[in-house]
Amino acid sequence: MIPMDWDQFNNKLITLGYSENDRLQIEKAFSFASQAHEGQKRASGEPYVTHAVAVATECADLQLDAVALMASLLHDTIEDCGITRKEIAKQFGEDVAFLVEGVSKLGSIRYNDAQRKIESLRKMFLASAKDIRVVLIKLADRLHNMRTIRFVRPEKQKRIAEETLEIYAPIAYRLGIGSVKGELEDLAFPLVYPNEYAWVKKEVDKRVPEGEQYLREEVKHVLERAFVAEHIEPIAIDYRKKHLYSLWKKLLRYDMDMARVTDLLAMRIVVKNIEDCYRVLGIMHQLWKPLPGRIKDYIALPKQNGYRSIHTTVFCVRNKITEFQIRTREMHKEAEHGVAAHWAYIEGEKPKQGGEVAGRMQWVQKLSDWQKEIGTPEGSEEFLESLKIDFFNDRVFVLTPKGEVIDLPMDATPVDFAYAVHTDIGNHMIGAKVNGKMAPFDRPLSSGETIEILTQKNRKPNLEWLSFVKSSIAKNRIRAALRKESSVTPLPAYAQQQKRGTYQFTLTIQDRVGLLKDISAVFSAFRINIQHITFNNTKNKSYPEIVLSAQLRDTKQAERIATRLKNIRDVEEVSYAI
Ligand code: MN
Repeated sequence: MIPMDWDQFNNKLITLGYSENDRLQIEKAFSFASQAHEGQKRASGEPYVTHAVAVATECADLQLDAVALMASLLHDTIEDCGITRKEIAKQFGEDVAFLVEGVSKLGSIRYNDAQRKIESLRKMFLASAKDIRVVLIKLADRLHNMRTIRFVRPEKQKRIAEETLEIYAPIAYRLGIGSVKGELEDLAFPLVYPNEYAWVKKEVDKRVPEGEQYLREEVKHVLERAFVAEHIEPIAIDYRKKHLYSLWKKLLRYDMDMARVTDLLAMRIVVKNIEDCYRVLGIMHQLWKPLPGRIKDYIALPKQNGYRSIHTTVFCVRNKITEFQIRTREMHKEAEHGVAAHWAYIEGEKPKQGGEVAGRMQWVQKLSDWQKEIGTPEGSEEFLESLKIDFFNDRVFVLTPKGEVIDLPMDATPVDFAYAVHTDIGNHMIGAKVNGKMAPFDRPLSSGETIEILTQKNRKPNLEWLSFVKSSIAKNRIRAALRKESSVTPLPAYAQQQKRGTYQFTLTIQDRVGLLKDISAVFSAFRINIQHITFNNTKNKSYPEIVLSAQLRDTKQAERIATRLKNIRDVEEVSYAI
């Protein structure tokens, strides 16, 4: 139920444990939003402010802090009411203004370009939200818009629903917010794929009632008896129905064969602690034989989005294949609320440590090394500060001309960009355009800029680049290219006059199996026999050397062979002499 007025909303906040001080602040934002949206209507005909309250209610359910709740109430006032950021900052402080502005900005990112990769968009979306609360408010906003989408024009419905499936639901998933992800998908599914939805729905409706009865009446009490015998007190023995959209996605992988889906319904057992999770698993496997390969310990190895649980599938009562999910209450809350569960900060509760947030956000870590920046704040002041951590504050996200997002370290330059796209582009770079204008090679890039690299075939990297590039990729590739450049040492002038004779090649190598074979293959290709070969594994050199000699026709041939040798993997340097 969406609260209709302040009293109802206030009651909800009291139930959820928000302090009086918090509620006083939130009430101020509530009246401000009511006034700002005065006279505006939703497509449903309801007063516009009902939307703001619905979004705030969702944020309260996720237990976001008072600042986020105030921002959620005000989230559409900049865009729809002509209120300025300054005004919000003056009335509610910089933090609230920052969040409201962030949510408004996210709203202005457009996804119409089908060419753009969805993955890139997700990254961009997250990168442009400098505070994760902005993303959470935006998700709550989208959730309410999806719940009320039936009032919107049909063509528009489909576009919004597609965007929801492609951008918003995956972000909710990445943040581990299972409740929001599942609902967003199920609301969007019938609008984007109406026929498929109808089919899946029909199939599920055929099977679910019988399955529910089986779990409720046959399985549950067997479990309960076993738990009593083993002195385990479960908090809940329940079941969950698979969301229709994720079921359909699974069916696509299973040739639409419903019989192969074994987790349409799954028994969910919530216990007090991790130890009990494993004891329950043991009990279940004594009762029923597990299906091989179907025991998944997401407690020992959480999913990338932080999901924890133990899953197992067994031949259950009457040999029916049944999935079980075992978890603690905390894991359950995390699975529903995701990042928000660690984020919730209500006065009086002890704030969670930054490190825990870090643990859940492993996928973000892939994009950046922000984790190093996070301390373990003790006071709530510091904790709130840490909530504002820009997950990407040491990364910049720039775009290729095709709209692909390239993720680079802070202060990266066009040269870093070029090497991130492709080694050849870096090696042959002669210039760069940033947002369509020529830019110096060492200009620091900022998020959102579009970079285009100009190349020329015979161009080579410059030693000087090493003084300003930021990414290790660029550094390594530049060094490699320069080494390659200088590593085939030509004969001194006096020797170049020499023609036929015995040439000696010295190769610096990283030894590996098959390397000698690759080297001798080069000589075979020229139909030349190697006369002599020695292997110097000298202690004072970092790399071993191979020295070999052969009769060659002329210097040109030696040059060609040297070049070929240089191209062999693990041959670092080649020089030759007559
Ligand atoms: Mn909105």
